[in-house]
Amino acid sequence: MTDSISHELLERAKRVIPGGVNSPVRAFRSVGGEPVFVREAHGATLVGADGREYVDYVGSWGPMILGHAHPEVVKAVQDAAVRGTSYGAPTEGEIALGELIAELVPSMPMSRLTSSGTEAVMGALRLARGATGRDIVVKCDGGYHGGADYLLVAAGSGAATLGEPDSAGIPRAIAATTAVVPYNDVPALEALFAERGAEIAAVIFEPVAGNMGCVPPEQAWLDALRKLTREHGALLVCDEVMTGFRVGLGGAQARYGIEPDLTCLGKIVGGGLPVGAYGGSAELMNQVAPMGPVYQAGTLSGNPLAVAAGMKTLELLRAPDVYERLEVIGAKLQTILEEEAAGAGVPLTVQRVGAMLTPFFTDAPVRNFEDSSSCDHAAFRRWHAALLEAGVHWPPSPYEAGFLSLAHDDDAMAKTRAAVKAGFLAASQRD
Ligand SMILES: *Cc1c(COP(=O)(O)O)cnc(C)c1O
Repeated sequence: MTDSISHELLERAKRVIPGGVNSPVRAFRSVGGEPVFVREAHGATLVGADGREYVDYVGSWGPMILGHAHPEVVKAVQDAAVRGTSYGAPTEGEIALGELIAELVPSMPMSRLTSSGTEAVMGALRLARGATGRDIVVKCDGGYHGGADYLLVAAGSGAATLGEPDSAGIPRAIAATTAVVPYNDVPALEALFAERGAEIAAVIFEPVAGNMGCVPPEQAWLDALRKLTREHGALLVCDEVMTGFRVGLGGAQARYGIEPDLTCLGKIVGGGLPVGAYGGSAELMNQVAPMGPVYQAGTLSGNPLAVAAGMKTLELLRAPDVYERLEVIGAKLQTILEEEAAGAGVPLTVQRVGAMLTPFFTDAPVRNFEDSSSCDHAAFRRWHAALLEAGVHWPPSPYEAGFLSLAHDDDAMAKTRAAVKAGFLAASQRD
């Protein structure tokens, strides 16, 4: 159970905010229990409302790769704030960030900043539809690309490939503009393109799935994605909102040799402030307003505070050895999880790419959403509750990845091991 102050805050919050939270996963519905209300956070530590400290693996769901409240990022934001927090007019900082993105992610020589990953994805897919003159977008079952209506869709029943609404409030006609295929499934992709190839504007995919738990891509599937989209005149849209600057300085596309037409960024690129970005070749990007007919805009896009936080974060990530260190930190956590699960006799498959990982409660590899859904979620819930009790703040859903940062030092790991041991003991006990 969470602390009594967080409990009181949740009761108060529920009166003015649906479920007491401003984004649903924060409500702990998939694990039961109640969320910790946060007082502050620094490094790998989150401080709850009652002053209790937790080792944090949520990391704001990805952005906090340097650790919370990194002094240099905080200073960059403070310095920017005193110069004004938003102008609605262009700034030099936006150019510098665009140049840095182009340098680090060569498939994005030109990009547009937004205020969230959701907006970046919406911009990229509107551009893909505008540039191809086609309507259908393809996504993977269990893939998450933000809150756009046509992306909150589930696979249709039976042989139908077009999607069905996965939320109330989404017209069937809108959901039917999206086709859904399983992740890592070459035959399904081939069948879809054989059937509807001429109508497909784009395939959007997470190059490492993070929103069904951490599921790495298989090379044959990546090859098929590129080959089929090219053959059929569709665009390949790589959603690196989570993986960008996390699994490598050049993102997953550098790590796996992917050549996307358009890329979406978010999370780390804003250094913990609200940002997204989408980009690709100048030829494509110049079809966006004001250069071209594809409209997209934002009052706070390119916000100077967010740009300052993003710039400073990327600068710090460019230091030598950063991604080697993240790899080592990730491997340490993986070892802890595997050793303690084995010790408790709990079947576990840890899937990790760099500094993101998921402990799946199964003894088989997880290749797609269906595999992820068939894991032992009751065991995950018991494990999660025991971790929280022991001072580890793990993402409150079995369909998420844990996020490590450069601040996860040996102290944090020691505390994590003790908590994880208790977690697997709890997981091994039936309800
Ligand atoms: C988080 C996420 C998004 C949405 O970004 P927001 O900033 O929450 O709108 C889109 N795609 C992926 C892969 C994500 O992980």
